[in-house]
Amino acid sequence: MTAYRPIQARIHLNALRNNLKVVKTFAPKSKVLAIIKSNGYGHGAERVARELAEADGYGVASIDEAIFLRQKGFLHPIVILEGLFSEAELDLAIQHRLEFAVHNWEQLNWLKTSHVTTPLTIWLKLDTGMHRLGFDERDMERVLTAIDRLPMSIHLNLMSHFASADTSDDFTQKQLSIFNRVAQTLNCPKSLANSAGVQRYPQSHFDWVRPGIMLYGACATDEMVPGLQPAMTLASEITSLKWIEAGETVGYGQTWRAERRSLVAVVAAGYGDGYPRCAPAGTPVLIHGQRLPMAGRVSMDMLTVDVTDMADHVALGDEVILWGQGLPVDVIAQACGTIGYELLCDVTQRVPRVEVKD
Ligand SMILES: *Cc1c(COP(=O)(O)O)cnc(C)c1O
Repeated sequence: MTAYRPIQARIHLNALRNNLKVVKTFAPKSKVLAIIKSNGYGHGAERVARELAEADGYGVASIDEAIFLRQKGFLHPIVILEGLFSEAELDLAIQHRLEFAVHNWEQLNWLKTSHVTTPLTIWLKLDTGMHRLGFDERDMERVLTAIDRLPMSIHLNLMSHFASADTSDDFTQKQLSIFNRVAQTLNCPKSLANSAGVQRYPQSHFDWVRPGIMLYGACATDEMVPGLQPAMTLASEITSLKWIEAGETVGYGQTWRAERRSLVAVVAAGYGDGYPRCAPAGTPVLIHGQRLPMAGRVSMDMLTVDVTDMADHVALGDEVILWGQGLPVDVIAQACGTIGYELLCDVTQRVPRVEVKD
């Protein structure tokens, strides 16, 4: 046995595979660009790419994430969703056979002025309302003319991104209709749907869907999708148990006061592991299959739980699930006013990822 702090992030390999199948039942006619940016939403990009080898390609944020996957031996199409950050990245992209978004004139000019003669596959990004990246509809004619005149031959894809397919039907319909207007004029593969689009808007599936969060078994929308399984369980153990008297407080700032004589469990998990400090008292953890409330503030390496209701059957070393199978990450995210995505991405380096089959 080596040195041991009990926290771990279990990565459920079969859950990843299962969730890809769920994507395919939603969008049976589309190819799947599995989104594995930000270290595979915290699950480990290489591991996720390996388990999702049946995807038709991978989507990442930047060229270094793409090159990482190439260096690990993945031969799939890889799309850099934010495109190139500098002209110098073009040679690298070609060297590693990477596809990339083109979302502004500057990026287009890098292609125009380059000496590259290799054919390129680009994902032309249309801004349909997100107003973050992409060309406006009214500029598309000029953009397409510029693409036609590029010195190298271009395999074109058209893409756009939803701003609120999880919540707003009106806005999403508006984005869809702009996308459709432009799509009609182009005879090339098209891609619009993120996870929420996959789940809620079949008419957004087109040639490629781009699911991220649903592959990890977390929610893109308020509705739980039947069949999805959490791909990460963040688990630790009780490392200390202590009775305190009614009226006594627990933790930094004395923010939690015991209303009765209480048994407080210390769990080896804190914001240094990526468990959010903003999680308020009352946020549930799972012990022996039962949800129990956190008491007091999360500290860097520990958090505390009121286990009084389970006093006769808790012991040091008992497993505590912070989120994952049995306790959706979205429950914790909601308690903190954030989204599951952030919690998954924020699990820190010091937490070992342990692969499990289920
Ligand atoms: C992150 C991302 C996705 C995946 O979004 P989810 O909500 O996680 O499914 C799809 N497309 C683009 C362009 C992205 O940046």
